[in-house]
Order: sequence, then C-alpha cells, then structure tokens
Amino acid sequence: MNNLFKRKARHNTYCAFCKSPRRVPRKRNIGVINIIASALTAAVISIVLWEGFDPRGFVVFVIALAFAETFLQLRWRLSIVCRACGFDPALYVKQPHLAAAKVKEHLERRRRDPAALMGKRLNLPTITPERAEQLKALPADGKGRGQLVSRSI
Ligand SMILES: [Zn+2]
Repeated sequence: MNNLFKRKARHNTYCAFCKSPRRVPRKRNIGVINIIASALTAAVISIVLWEGFDPRGFVVFVIALAFAETFLQLRWRLSIVCRACGFDPALYVKQPHLAAAKVKEHLERRRRDPAALMGKRLNLPTITPERAEQLKALPADGKGRGQLVSRSI
C-alpha cells in the first residue's frame, strides 16, 4: 500500500558519457504478462474470425509474441541513446569509432542550435592537455579508444 503513493524516481540511470540522469525501460524481453496478452489476443481473433478455437489461432499467437518482442527490443534500443549528448552505449560496445562520430555530430548540431544555449550545460569528460596529446598520437581510426571531444558546448 505504501508503494502506491511513493513517488516514482524520474530517472533510473545516468548517461555513461555526459552523466545526465536518464530514464531507460528495464524490460528488454517479453514476460509472462506479454505471453498471456498474446494468448488472449489470439483467442479473441480466433473466436471472431473462425467462430471458435482454430489451429490458425496458434499462428496468430506466435505473430503476436513476435510483435511484442520486437516492440520491446526496439523501445529499449531507441531509449538507451542519450538525448543530451547522443551517446549510444550499444554502438560503443561494437564500434567505438562510430559512436564517437555520432556524439561529435550530435554535439556539433547542439552547438548550432540556439535553443541549446538556454538549455542545461552538459557535463562532458575533461581531457588534460597531456591526454589530448596522447589521443592525437593514436591511429586515425581510433579503434577501441573513442575520440577527442571538445568541451566548449
Ligand atoms: Zn549523454
């Protein structure tokens, strides 16, 4: 009963790059509720279309399950990208240089947007001059190490 009136936290995680608080759905895959809902949907469609339970209803059940799984996966995948800095953790794991390019592009777009001037300042990682020299000495592809990002936003 006490949990009903508890105020839900507005965020449940932080961006790994700019540290801004974010809300990401925890649910990535279908659960028991989704399976029951898909079975009910299949039963209703089977009753309406074929006037009773029909083996074709099982095909509808599988399609409904696939739809639910696809929706949950897409929702999770799209929501993990940070709206403030454009950092994509899933892309960073597979292709860090592409993730760095996306962040640079997003920050450049943000720099040109006049509305961002009045917005919240991003808490981007600080790079010391020595570290900047080390990063410049890295190979051009920057594989596995990210890219140098300007702090002046
Ligand atoms: Zn971010």
